[in-house]
Amino acid sequence: VAPAASLTHAFRSSVLAAPDRTALAYFDGRLSYREVDALTDSVAGHLAARGLVRGDRVAIMLQNTPHFVIALLGAWKAGATVVPVNPMYKSAETRHVLTDADVTALVCADRAWESHLRETAAGTGVRIVLTACQLDLQTRDDPRVLGFERLPRAADADDLVTVARQGLPAPGGREPGPSDTALISYTSGTSGTPKGAMNTHGNITYNAERQRAGSGVPEGACYFALAPLFHITGMVAQLAACLTNAGTLALAYRFDAGVVLDAFAEHRPAYTVGPATAFMALAAHPAATRAHFDSFVLISSGGAPLPPALVEKFRAGFGPYLHNGYGLTECTAPCVSVPPGRAAPVDPDSGTLAVGVPGPETVVRIVDELGAEVPFGTSGEIVVRGPQVVPGYWKRPEATAETFPGGELRTGDIGFMDPEGWLYVVDRKKDMINASGFKVWPREVEDVLYSHPAVREAAVVGVPDAYRGESVKAYVSLRAGAGGSPAELVAYCRERLAAYKYPRAVEVLEELPKTASGKILRRELRSRP
Ligand code: ATP
Repeated sequence: VAPAASLTHAFRSSVLAAPDRTALAYFDGRLSYREVDALTDSVAGHLAARGLVRGDRVAIMLQNTPHFVIALLGAWKAGATVVPVNPMYKSAETRHVLTDADVTALVCADRAWESHLRETAAGTGVRIVLTACQLDLQTRDDPRVLGFERLPRAADADDLVTVARQGLPAPGGREPGPSDTALISYTSGTSGTPKGAMNTHGNITYNAERQRAGSGVPEGACYFALAPLFHITGMVAQLAACLTNAGTLALAYRFDAGVVLDAFAEHRPAYTVGPATAFMALAAHPAATRAHFDSFVLISSGGAPLPPALVEKFRAGFGPYLHNGYGLTECTAPCVSVPPGRAAPVDPDSGTLAVGVPGPETVVRIVDELGAEVPFGTSGEIVVRGPQVVPGYWKRPEATAETFPGGELRTGDIGFMDPEGWLYVVDRKKDMINASGFKVWPREVEDVLYSHPAVREAAVVGVPDAYRGESVKAYVSLRAGAGGSPAELVAYCRERLAAYKYPRAVEVLEELPKTASGKILRRELRSRP
């Protein structure tokens, strides 16, 4: 099947194929494909009536709720480009995005609008505001789903649900095509100031269709939105793949291990995706049982390294569902994944788990500093070419030229390939530690730490060292009552790693700092006193 021209086209095919099937499930609430189609037509009609023109930017700043999906499809039906914004962003970060992307319309939680976003948006180009009353996890058994108690109507904002229920027709002549910009996705900022990658509708429908066809998830199945939808992985691998597959998208506001396990029991999902830290939290939850996971066909871990020890623990405790996948915002999330029915190999020398094999039409090469391809087994920078690679960064011609020479994506990740075509990610180029001239890749050390039963989370960074230049330091969080003193962990690594690689210092923290999408922030640890 050729990918649809845009996700709104793919969505419409699903409406025709299964109008009465549940498209969105949120605690006790359900919306069918037919209902979501009507609600999103009305949002599009409203935006057009308010003067929004094709190509204008609509920022969506919501958690994983039905409102997010309704605002997204509504904006796309109006021909807009959507800018997903992390709802946890503080004023300065939000203002950067609203200004940089020149946003015209903002969809956000009513409480956030009242508490700080009204001030944040003042003086930017935002002139249309839709607010949504967002379910509080504490009141999650409220059955009204799209109509919980609202704040008094603001004079300068319209209520998203009211607008969606107005029954307006979608404006004509706005259907986006494959080369139109669907999203401006600001990278999570793990390594610096966020830049907006321009994901086209073609990028998204290609990856959604590949996911539909290649994941083994049956048509109409339930997809659970574990990763945040404002992050590209959540948006494409969950939402876009689900709507392309006429499936049910189950949402649960934001990640909370207990709530997620309840939702697995209730919705029996076949697919979900998230960062390894989420699966560590689920596996460590006292209520987690094998039965919580037996509806899955595939659970993808992506966006951050997946320690082999976690895959093993997960397999032994919960079943064979957890698989690695690799992607970046700049290639619209997944570009390399583990084919169904196959287990990713572990490289015997480094202990690295393969992330998968490149998808169809996707070419992954490993190059040296001069751009020349290196042999199998040799590490170099991972570069990707394929239908999911974005055309560039929004308003950043220099960064675009540097990151996408000749249309090929330079990922900034170091990796190698084996002769069977499996890709292994060694680490981020920027995170390499140089200890006495020896290269140390944090991930390899972290994998060893994760194989210790007391370690819940681990992150390894270089710290300045008068003698070695840099030395290796580990931060860990621990499982209660399982031991794991710093001296014990240093000794454990020393037994398993070369002398220049094992951490000279281990510091225990309650919790490691993470991005909203669950990635551990080594950058923040590096700048600790
Ligand atoms: P920024 O670009 O602002 O630093 P970010 O790189 O975290 O943010 P994303 O596009 O969300 O933004 O993340 C992509 C990165 O995540 C990849 O470049 C890679 O370093 C890492 N990554 C993704 N999948 C895997 C995986 N399976 N194993 C190891 N690392 C992965």
